[in-house]
Amino acid sequence: MADTAPNSWESRADTYSLYGFTDLPSVHARGAVVVTHGKGPYIYDTHGREYLDANSGLWNMVAGFDHPGLTETAKAQYDRLPGYHAFFGRMSDQTVMLSEKLVEVSPFEKGRVFYTNSGSEANDTMVKILWFLHAAEGKPQRRKILTRWNGYHGVTAVSASMTGKPYNSVFGLPLPGFIHLGCPHYWRFGQPGETEAQFTARLAAELEATIIKEGPDTIAGFFAEPVMGAGGVIPPSSGYFHAVVPILRKYGIPIISDEVICGFGRTGNTWGCETYDFVPDAIISSKNLTAGYFPMGAVILGDELARRVQAAAEAIEEFPHGFTASGHPVGCAIALKAIDVVMNEGLAQNVRELTPHFEAGLARLAEHPNIGEWRGKGFMGALEAVRDKATRTPFDGSLSVSERIANACTDTGLICRPLGQSIVLCPPFIITREQMDEMFEKLETALKRVFDEVA
Ligand code: PMP
Repeated sequence: MADTAPNSWESRADTYSLYGFTDLPSVHARGAVVVTHGKGPYIYDTHGREYLDANSGLWNMVAGFDHPGLTETAKAQYDRLPGYHAFFGRMSDQTVMLSEKLVEVSPFEKGRVFYTNSGSEANDTMVKILWFLHAAEGKPQRRKILTRWNGYHGVTAVSASMTGKPYNSVFGLPLPGFIHLGCPHYWRFGQPGETEAQFTARLAAELEATIIKEGPDTIAGFFAEPVMGAGGVIPPSSGYFHAVVPILRKYGIPIISDEVICGFGRTGNTWGCETYDFVPDAIISSKNLTAGYFPMGAVILGDELARRVQAAAEAIEEFPHGFTASGHPVGCAIALKAIDVVMNEGLAQNVRELTPHFEAGLARLAEHPNIGEWRGKGFMGALEAVRDKATRTPFDGSLSVSERIANACTDTGLICRPLGQSIVLCPPFIITREQMDEMFEKLETALKRVFDEVA
């Protein structure tokens, strides 16, 4: 319960915060968890309580909260060059090395990289790159952006317009020209009697019909997360990317893989597009890029887009875009180290090795009559709460079941996230088998408590 003493951390947080993406009744009643430090996959609050963070912060703290290699890299780079920009033909040596590295580990033979401070800004930047490119190539009308319902791409005005969530209507978004296609979640959106293959074919047909209706020459690009993250951990229906990619190719529409969550190992491979066997035209990266140790995003343009965008910039002698902290040397040094840690220190391997155990844990909890479905890929998992398993009827929204489960988890010393009617787990890559067992035990206790309450 909230410590309501006027000088408590909870009261001070409540007085001075405009809480973002926070269930206000819960936080007022319970108080914010004010975090002081972390160790491995655990965080600690101002009361000294320990929580296993099964969310890796916000999907990003993949190396845990006290990785010595990452903190030492940051300290050393702060001593060498604590800040610099990437304007006017100047940039740090770390920035050069990271761009080289990102192209090397990307699915592209060649490419070019642009840095931002966040995933939202990286998506925003990518949209501007597409608008810039099409205008330079004599097609200024190619401005529409295709994304999907339940896709999450960020919170800036443009990336929020790409995000397929109804809550953005409170901002008067999406902006015109942002078109949302069907969400590839077969269990929830498949029609009675429709096979998964038929469902995928229906979504592909919807895509093609939309392109024809809007006019292929008005569309700037298609953005997709390989596995939808903040939409509730939704792996695509089977064959989805194999069905939509050829259609996009047929109409010359650039394909952008938003790998802010999936990139660098979350789905078991370096990239989510690798997991789903498609090669996009560009990749959006953030979060895991620095293992959460620095705010940073990147747009990685593949060969062809890089060549065309560069030609467009050469024609006007400039690409007029950039952030003060684009290519920040400390962020780049940390990213170089994070990539090495994830790929070469066994973290990506741990994801691959423990995925069957993770899936088995999800599947076991999904046996509960109030869990309709478990879904996941690699270290992304979700359990969907339902009132009636057979009919897949959700709980009444007013019961706030997933928030209650997440709160009950917090009480047991586990952080996990409510998303819609789902509870999401995305543990850090360093989690051990024993810690994973602890995660499932705590979650089971919380589920039992809440389902007993709402039964
Ligand atoms: N794209 C995806 C797939 C994301 O999951 C997120 C963040 N959850 C973003 C973009 C936005 O990133 P940021 O919060 O760093 O702006």
